[in-house]
Amino acid sequence: MNRGPSAEIDLSAFAHNIAVLRNVTGDRPVIAVVKADAYGHGSVEVSRRLLREGVSMLAVAFTGEARKLRDSGIAAPILVLFDRDELNDYFELGLTPVIQDIRTADVFSKEAVSRGKKIRVHIKIDTGMGRIGFRPEQAVSDAVRVADMKGIELEGLMSHFSEADLTDRSYAMHQIQIFDGITKELSARLHRPLICHMANSAASLSIPEALFEAVRPGLLLYGHSPFEERYGLKPVMTIKTKLLAVRNLPAGCAISYGRTFCTLRPSRIGVVPIGYADGYNRLFSNNAEMLVRGRRVPVAGRVCMDLTMVDVTEVEDVSEGDEVVILGRQADETVRASELSAKIGTIPYEILISLGCRARRSYLN
Ligand SMILES: *Cc1c(COP(=O)(O)O)cnc(C)c1O
Repeated sequence: MNRGPSAEIDLSAFAHNIAVLRNVTGDRPVIAVVKADAYGHGSVEVSRRLLREGVSMLAVAFTGEARKLRDSGIAAPILVLFDRDELNDYFELGLTPVIQDIRTADVFSKEAVSRGKKIRVHIKIDTGMGRIGFRPEQAVSDAVRVADMKGIELEGLMSHFSEADLTDRSYAMHQIQIFDGITKELSARLHRPLICHMANSAASLSIPEALFEAVRPGLLLYGHSPFEERYGLKPVMTIKTKLLAVRNLPAGCAISYGRTFCTLRPSRIGVVPIGYADGYNRLFSNNAEMLVRGRRVPVAGRVCMDLTMVDVTEVEDVSEGDEVVILGRQADETVRASELSAKIGTIPYEILISLGCRARRSYLN
């Protein structure tokens, strides 16, 4: 496939971003979240590099994602956050399930016994995210029940924040308090420590009380901060392509579907081979900038399926074939995922995944 944009993934940036993380988390084990094809960066290459940089465990959403990693020779522990139907995968691939209720624990226990095996599990506590997990009221007694089940080895306890990225930390602190109480009571009942982890990127960077025994970041590893402050993180991915055409047009020309942009002066319009089929959101119509020859240029008119026009009138010596950066850095200018997400009312995560999952990837070491 040779359609539009390419994604350049700078693997060396992971070392830098992990150093930023370790600056606040010390030498706690890192469980690196590589779900959704490593946030659009390519899970196999990214996981290999992250493991080389010293992360202890990988986390994916579904067992299919873990299978891809195992098939490429990755032997590290893999935590599967959400899946529970693919029992066979867990045993065949040696994966660590996140247990979210007693019934599921029971199913894993029976399967382990019938295979004459033990399976390591982590238990999820719903401390306020309201998504999945054991309710706090019965969490300790339920977790003890799970720990006592045949074939099950309870290794970890986890929870997830609902709003660790706000400046008002009161709800996050409330969740921490609940989790902390449960971890202490449970360790006492089981007479042994568990690996307790709760911190996503936002909490890892900003809430010391959230760190527990291990941290579980995604976004920051890829070089993006959940906050205005960037913490010196280095974006891993650049999305770029080349100008398909540069056209000199007189004043008064309508550009693209629906004539939402009209040249007000004699203009140079660049045609960029990226569109909403490539994950470049149609809401960027007249509403985003790209980089050409180190300068910001505005999107002119509606984003099409495969093409988008930009006004390059102010760019000197611009010509067909010039590099266009859609996300990332060119010369001294940078378009950040947070800049794009803010323009269309979403979050950097969605920008990375929309653009990264569809582009042709190349890796820099
Ligand atoms: C996605 C996810 C994370 C990582 O969150 P970031 O905000 O990307 O750091 C951690 N834990 C769970 C359960 C998740 O689903």
